[in-house]
Amino acid sequence: MANIEKLLSGFDNFYKKYFIENPHVYKELSTKGQSPKTLIIACSDSRVDPSILLDVAPGEIFVIRNVANLVPAFDSDMSHCHGTSAAIEYAVKHLKVENIIVLGHSHCGGIKTLVEEHNHQHNFIDTWLEIADTPQMRQICKDYDFDAACSLCEREGIRISVSNLKTFPFVDEAISENRLKIHGWYFDLQTGHLEIIL
Ligand SMILES: [Zn+2]
Repeated sequence: MANIEKLLSGFDNFYKKYFIENPHVYKELSTKGQSPKTLIIACSDSRVDPSILLDVAPGEIFVIRNVANLVPAFDSDMSHCHGTSAAIEYAVKHLKVENIIVLGHSHCGGIKTLVEEHNHQHNFIDTWLEIADTPQMRQICKDYDFDAACSLCEREGIRISVSNLKTFPFVDEAISENRLKIHGWYFDLQTGHLEIIL
C-alpha cells in the first residue's frame, strides 16, 4: 500500500508543481493534439524510463516499451495482437515521426533470459524473445563468457530491432523518401554512458 500512496502523492506533486504552474502546456496539448517528432522503442525495465533519461517534456516523444526493446519483423497476417507493430504504424503513418530510436540498455533481464537458455518455454516471454534468437546471437553465446555475451547480445538486439523495423513497408517507404531516420542507442546503467550504436 505504501507504494501506491507514494505514487498518488507523486501525482499530487506533478499536479501542483507542473500542471498548475504551467497551464499552457496541457491546454495546448489537449486542444491541438500531440505532434511528437520522435518514436522511442525502449525496454519495460523500471530503470530506463526514456522521459527521465532524455529529459523531455510532455508531448515530445511517442514511446513504446516492451521486454528487451524488441521489434518483431513485419507480419502481413494482422489478425494477431501486434501491440508493438500497431504503435509503430500509428507513429509513422499518422504522427509522421521523423526519427525512431531503439533504446537498449545494459543489465537487461530480457536479454539475460535469452543468453541463459535456448530451450524456450511455451510462455509469452520466451515466445516474445524469439524475435532476437538469431544464429548471430547463438554464436555470441557460444564464443563469449556469460557477462560478455549479455553485453554483446544487448547491442545485437538493438541491431535486430532496427533491421526488423525496415521490414515494415511504411517504414521502408518513409526512409527511402528521406522522411524518417532510424537510430540505435545503448544506455549503460553502471557508467551512465549513452553509446550510439547506429
Ligand atoms: Zn531490458
